[in-house]
Amino acid sequence: MVGFYPGKIIIAHFTRVKSSGIFTVELKVHGIYNKGMERSMRLHEIVPLTHANGPGARACIWVQGCSLACPGCFNPETHDFGTGLLRSVASIAEEICSLAGIEGVTISGGEPLQQPDALIGLLSLIREHGNLSVIIFSGFDKKELEKMPCLGELRQLVDAIVTGRYVEEKRLAEGLLGSSNQEILLFSERYSLNDFKPIPPAEVIINADGTITLSGVDPIKL
Ligand code: SF4
Repeated sequence: MVGFYPGKIIIAHFTRVKSSGIFTVELKVHGIYNKGMERSMRLHEIVPLTHANGPGARACIWVQGCSLACPGCFNPETHDFGTGLLRSVASIAEEICSLAGIEGVTISGGEPLQQPDALIGLLSLIREHGNLSVIIFSGFDKKELEKMPCLGELRQLVDAIVTGRYVEEKRLAEGLLGSSNQEILLFSERYSLNDFKPIPPAEVIINADGTITLSGVDPIKL
């Protein structure tokens, strides 16, 4: 038996039970599927270990594609929706959940909320398989976010979201905020705003293959 409620499909088994002349129905739920679990996400890069994209040791997923075009954006190579790698959200979730020693995952980009179904599907799978915290960077501000149909699901799946365009004239580069107009919205009690203050603004990661990844809200230019 498959049942539906907004945005989700419930796979369940119904059994009709007769007791004292009255029929009742027993319901056993086997799983809940969010839309998007079967989708693909356009990726720029996965960083398996970073300390500059949220509290503690984290993985970071940089999605590919952003149309918001903030002047001075640190990641212009993530804007084009026609490049990057298309990967199933199931394989991305499997990779993230197999990483040892991380307390959470950060989704950045690129603009994660311009792939909303894939994002919700990915986060549902990650949450299903562990206790990783989830932080999202989005260029959409709080008012824009409040109009998005996926906001209810984000509230259930995300611990904190950094919102707002990067505004060069308001450059801040501290505590995960690139500019002072941006704000951190907390959707759970897992973190407080104080947890974001000591996060380093920049990080240089030397990968196993000798390549270098630059990260953070104020990345070093080499
Ligand atoms: S929203 Fe983020 S990725 Fe997109 S242009 Fe602005 S700073 Fe760059």
